[in-house]
Amino acid sequence: MDYLLLNLGKKLKNISYFNDKYVGVLGLGLSGNAAANVLVKSNANVFVFDDKKNKSLVPKKTTWLNYKDWDWEKIDTLFVSPGIPINSTKTHEAIKIAKKNNVNILNEIDLFFLTRPSAKIIGVTGTNGKSTTVALLNHILTFNKINSVIGGNFGLPACEIIDPGKNGVIILELSSYQLDGASKLSLHAAAIINITPDHIDYHEDFHNYIKSKLKIISFLNQYSKLIISNDDPFLKKIINTQEIPKSKLIKVNRSIGKNFVQNSIYLSGKHNHINAAIAIALAQTMKLNEEQIKQAINTFKGLPHRLEQIFFSDKIRIINDSKATNGEATAAALSSFKNIFWIAGGRPKSDGIGKASNCLKNVLKIFLFGESSEFFSKQILALNKHIPVIYCETLENATKLAIHKSQNSELKHIIILLSPAAASFDQFKNFEERGDHFKKAVNLYSQKGNLVC
Ligand code: ADP
Repeated sequence: MDYLLLNLGKKLKNISYFNDKYVGVLGLGLSGNAAANVLVKSNANVFVFDDKKNKSLVPKKTTWLNYKDWDWEKIDTLFVSPGIPINSTKTHEAIKIAKKNNVNILNEIDLFFLTRPSAKIIGVTGTNGKSTTVALLNHILTFNKINSVIGGNFGLPACEIIDPGKNGVIILELSSYQLDGASKLSLHAAAIINITPDHIDYHEDFHNYIKSKLKIISFLNQYSKLIISNDDPFLKKIINTQEIPKSKLIKVNRSIGKNFVQNSIYLSGKHNHINAAIAIALAQTMKLNEEQIKQAINTFKGLPHRLEQIFFSDKIRIINDSKATNGEATAAALSSFKNIFWIAGGRPKSDGIGKASNCLKNVLKIFLFGESSEFFSKQILALNKHIPVIYCETLENATKLAIHKSQNSELKHIIILLSPAAASFDQFKNFEERGDHFKKAVNLYSQKGNLVC
């Protein structure tokens, strides 16, 4: 395929290759919609379909039609949205049909790359810490007047990014789904923060998940660097099995991150020192020096829903870590504090509280809500029979009880921590809605005078 870019307009790009071509877009979430809009702008005939949506949400100038009825002989390229299986026994039927008909299979990240941005592209992946790392890197770059923009799994869908120009940087947060479906990228630098089991329902087994994460290596070009964390022994082991020239590989230690972060409350905890070490190494590929990076790091304000402090007094601190959707992320939170009243629950991952089970020594009481309550309490009781476990059903109840019990406690310096170790979909639309719900509940009970400062 020879993709010629016609018009780098101010807004959406126009890729001349697709002019008059027939294309399909499978899945109409944020990225499917963005891809459809770019393709319409490129004068393609765009067919769209989503198994879980209805016709009323169709992007302008596209045709909603079940993929079974598409004229597959005419379709040139199928754009697949993240989360739709393409390489497993669960492979979507539309993809099987596309393969049979020799249709190109791409995703929205490829479409972004086909717009030929002139900025340098940096890709960041890992099981946990991606958003914090890309936000920190973006902050370091913009603080130092490098025009930079974030997209992909965080921020804008990639193909909606406006190219900041040849001196600028595009930072892509790349999920395993996005890496799985992409084939066209070329990166100035890439980073893998860590790899632990996650999204196994989609990938079917850990091996496939690892394969998707490692796919980022195939997007390195002859000049690019790959940065990995030296503090993840598993990641180091699998990187050793890959053929990566020594000159391309940079292994970073969390001690570097700790040294740069100093006393920032927004980047506290060992896990954030790892994220910082990765962001520092990436910033160094943009020729920033230590002093420039250090100054920037200490003005970083963190991201909502990741160890976000929402109340502080002498007696208690309340922390919203709603983004912790797996045991590994929650382990990072539990090991960052002592005297924790832990609020957890939601739709569990296959290993339940997973690595969080190693950090129970920091926990005083546990408040469970959501679908995972029984599963989590069994895991916890098998490890430690002394920590009171309280069933609360809803997050609101859990918040109310945790606040109430903290107020009646003799202890000072209690941390009330929402770090669910589970996905949010049993009771909420996403982790943001769950975190906002928690903040509202905290507000409500503090207004009722329940929070003693
Ligand atoms: P992602 O975008 O990969 O989901 P985030 O930066 O949004 O990562 O953080 C998600 C959750 O993981 C938060 O609860 C956060 O505290 C925790 N976390 C952040 N960085 C790490 C890390 N390096 N290792 C383990 N957990 C982490």
